[in-house]
Amino acid sequence: MSKTLVTGAAGFLGSHMVRRLLAEGRQVVGIDNLSTGKADNLRSVGLGGSFVFIGCDVTDPGIITLPELEGVTNIYHLASPASPKFYQAFPFDTIEVNTTGTKHMLELARRSGAELVYSSTSEAYGDPLVHPQDEKYRGNVNTWGPRACYDEAKRLGEVYCYEYFHRYHVPVKVARIFNTYSAGLRNDDGRVISNFVTQAIAGDDLTVYGDGSQTRSFCYVDDTISGLRLLMDKEAANGQIVNIGNPVEHTILHVAETVIRLSGTSSAIRYMPLPEDDPKVRRPVIAKAEALLGWRPEISLEEGLRRTISAYRERMQGGMRS
Ligand code: NAD
Ligand code: UDP
Repeated sequence: MSKTLVTGAAGFLGSHMVRRLLAEGRQVVGIDNLSTGKADNLRSVGLGGSFVFIGCDVTDPGIITLPELEGVTNIYHLASPASPKFYQAFPFDTIEVNTTGTKHMLELARRSGAELVYSSTSEAYGDPLVHPQDEKYRGNVNTWGPRACYDEAKRLGEVYCYEYFHRYHVPVKVARIFNTYSAGLRNDDGRVISNFVTQAIAGDDLTVYGDGSQTRSFCYVDDTISGLRLLMDKEAANGQIVNIGNPVEHTILHVAETVIRLSGTSSAIRYMPLPEDDPKVRRPVIAKAEALLGWRPEISLEEGLRRTISAYRERMQGGMRS
């Protein structure tokens, strides 16, 4: 029987991925060091039965020989802080998990004959000078700034994938994931949708950084998880980099106004300084994912925000704020 490893299983994407795999009837091993992840995410997935959780760090070399990972057939390497708030607070951990941690997962894949999906990011394109971004664009990344620990570590993670594919023929696929959201993000995650929805429900002002004219293209988590699942199962995607994201682009100000409208809050907008190196635009070209995987996102921002607001409201009314 196939056995799937999900690193970062207590995180936002990891816990959604575990839930999807269990629903498909698969046997899943989750790994997490609970740095940015939540034990509550694991509880909601349901421990026991087909899901085994191991609390450990993927940068620990001993991970490759853990008995629980024997016979693993598929690896989703999702472990890494993803919110600027957290990766900037823990830059060295962020570098390590995406470089040493990625090498460990690739080595495990090589020894076990497993397939691996690496969660890279749209940040590989940096503050892009080409718009929208397809996979051939090489990016505009600053090595000397607060985002470099994440952007450059992800780029080096991709290099490890390249080398393991070309030297050792490990069937590795690289997903460049664009901003994904939904319930399951911590209230204090710091990323924009989590901030706006938490603020709207609490009746606080929504914090728009800069003038809000910068853009992002938001993908609802169910769509992202479907893209990653298809990527794993597609043989023709071995050794490929594929954008996984929603190609509909919005300004951040529009997102703030939409959250205010859909939540019915009396909150106002409070403008705050734009962080250094904040990308001005971001939108994926998804022609490759469409052709290779037959995948395109189905959930609009408005529908995704409705679902997210309602889930956050339920959680916050239940007294939980993390
Ligand atoms: P998250 O912070 O919610 O989850 C990451 C998980 O990894 C956490 O549970 C954390 O505790 C765990 N982790 C971190 N370092 C670890 C280590 N050394 N060993 C074991 N576990 C470790 O972030 P997320 O949004 O779920 O992102 C998951 C992955 O997808 C990340 O690699 C991220 O870079 C990538 N990604 C996410 C997005 C997005 O919009 N969510 C966009 C682009 C890329
Ligand atoms: N942002 C904002 N208010 C917030 C959090 C973020 O205006 O409370 C902006 C941020 O400056 C960026 C965009 O929203 O332009 C997306 O930020 P996020 O941290 O979610 O992800 P990023 O795409 O920058 O990694």
